Amino acid sequence: MERTATNPGAPDDRGRSLPALLGPLRGLPGVQGEDLGSFEINGGKYSIPRFTFQGPNSSDPIRIGIFAAIHGDEPAGAFAAAKFLADVAREPDLAENFHLQIYPVCNPTGFEDQTRHSRRGKDLNREFWKASVEPEIEILEHELRSRHFSGIIQLHADDTSDGVYGFVRGHTLTENLLRPALFEAGKILPRNVNATIDGFAARDGIIYDHYEGILAAPAAMDPPFEIILETPHAAPIDLQVQALVVAMRTIVSEYRRLISFAANI
Ligand SMILES: [Zn+2]
Repeated sequence: MERTATNPGAPDDRGRSLPALLGPLRGLPGVQGEDLGSFEINGGKYSIPRFTFQGPNSSDPIRIGIFAAIHGDEPAGAFAAAKFLADVAREPDLAENFHLQIYPVCNPTGFEDQTRHSRRGKDLNREFWKASVEPEIEILEHELRSRHFSGIIQLHADDTSDGVYGFVRGHTLTENLLRPALFEAGKILPRNVNATIDGFAARDGIIYDHYEGILAAPAAMDPPFEIILETPHAAPIDLQVQALVVAMRTIVSEYRRLISFAANI
């Protein structure tokens, strides 16, 4: 796959390029980019990139965290997070009332190597809240503990699924966000409506269970809404990106609508 404007982190013979993906994001208007932590793996220096965008009318903002590519071989999530950030920078009203923190590459070495695991051989999405010493986990757990998210969205791709689906967790309204998001994403890619997905019972592409050790809010907190979006890994990457972006846009606008509806009762 060639590196192009729409797929800037596409691999060449040295693997995927983090600077090619992240560089353009640093110059977006209204976007603040930071590199969290600093850790060394096999002589290479890494950090977890975080991009912050504050939408209009957000004096008491709704804080949302978007986490992608914790599995390094699922690049569509990273590209979708980048695209969503570019969209809100160009059209800030999309993020009205929101404070967005976007982590497009949670597994930077896996992203470079195009592997599910980190270069230290860990499936990082099984390491949360069990005193892991993996540097990526320490950085991300700190974010999850300290950022007071009202919502957490995680982007994944599943190589055993022919369609889009998602996991819900946390706040009781979560499924009311995922349902319309899957409906919109389903206009771009087929939906997975099987009764069993990834070994879990599913209803209309929604799973109410989860693996242990996944990226999630700490147990002691007021539960935010937590959604994991999954695209079919074998689908064209541009369509996976489009489906994830439209799903995120739908979740944000539905949440805003539900919150303001609740406030007006
Ligand atoms: Zn994954």
